[in-house]
Amino acid sequence: MPGFEMFGALERAEVQEVLDSGVLMRYGFDGMRKGHWKTRELEQALASRMQTTYAHTVSSGTAALTVAMASAGIGAGDEVIIPTFTFVASFEAVLSLGAIPVLVDIDDTLTLAPAAVEKAISDKTKAVMPVHMCGSMADLRALKALCDTNGLVLIEDACQAIGGSFEGKPLGSYGDIGCFSFDFVKTITCGEGGGLITNNKDFYTCADHYSDHGHDHIGNDRGAETHPFLGYNYRISELHAAVGLAQIKRLDDFLKIQQKHYNRLAAPLEKLEGISMRRVPEGGVQNYSFLNFFLPTENQARKAQKELVAAGVDACFYWFDNNWHYHTKWEHLKGLHSLGRVSDLVKEGMQKQSEHSFAASDQWMGRTVSCLIKLSWTEEEVSQRAAILHRILGEILKEA
Ligand SMILES: *Cc1c(COP(=O)(O)O)cnc(C)c1O
Repeated sequence: MPGFEMFGALERAEVQEVLDSGVLMRYGFDGMRKGHWKTRELEQALASRMQTTYAHTVSSGTAALTVAMASAGIGAGDEVIIPTFTFVASFEAVLSLGAIPVLVDIDDTLTLAPAAVEKAISDKTKAVMPVHMCGSMADLRALKALCDTNGLVLIEDACQAIGGSFEGKPLGSYGDIGCFSFDFVKTITCGEGGGLITNNKDFYTCADHYSDHGHDHIGNDRGAETHPFLGYNYRISELHAAVGLAQIKRLDDFLKIQQKHYNRLAAPLEKLEGISMRRVPEGGVQNYSFLNFFLPTENQARKAQKELVAAGVDACFYWFDNNWHYHTKWEHLKGLHSLGRVSDLVKEGMQKQSEHSFAASDQWMGRTVSCLIKLSWTEEEVSQRAAILHRILGEILKEA
């Protein structure tokens, strides 16, 4: 997945142009910038690649999620449905708006189970946020139908699946708003950065204003602009955008490498009876950033990950025991360990969920192993990894 493996001359050239002009900010300074508008160019490239009318970039993926929800009018006491398997950014963004993250079971797609989402919808629900974890997507058709029926906003977190698609549409463009991260370990990187895409003009305009203190961006005198509503500062800098601009031009090359490596690692696993691959919903194309599979039992999965890492297949994950990505390790969320006081609405919202069991999620997550696909591997390294995967998994399956 990591674009950081591929930092080179193109990135340097884009950054150098920003350094030469000396304008490190995305807005204003028209005279000084010698025609360089890296952030705007990045946004145009993002919208064009993702086939949406609008794209807006911000300081991180977490900021993109926050701005997306704020732009859709989500605020105090609103409920946002998120999966039990995700990065902590999902609930952080929800909480930062005073809204309530409602955890919902995943299925064999490793993200939101539509039937569980349907059950979790209440009169406070405002949005459903599938998180396309580890390179593949939620069952977007079913989720969109639920959102349409119930008047909810569908916000796709495509931070880990940029470049994948569903029913011919780039991930992120299927729902109402899609979010990306360009942090240092994502498929393409800005160092730090994020972006959102949408076809909805109102959402876009709100995002554009909200992420820059509510500035209306009318005219070219920043100081004279008005502020139609409250905002915040989630701006990306020109330096970061310059790196991203070089990287987005390379996205499709990176995806080809990922797919090639993925196919070579997946081929031997498909011959092992007992291993099943994570389900990609019909109509979906992964971005191949991770190889994800299920073992028959929790013990076998835990053991497989340990032995794979010990044998040199680094960057294999057993998320079930991981500190960041699975609900069982989110004591700070469940206990609302906040530095300051938390609103009663959020307290009540979290209290309501405290007895909920996620046995369905545990059943999938406990058996999942995910191996990161790197871009920089040589042919030989990929072959070695494929052989080790086949050998170790074969041995573990025999022990059942
Ligand atoms: C990385 C990531 C984010 C947050 O992105 P940052 O740019 O690191 O803030 C959000 N969601 C998912 C699924 C991610 O992997």
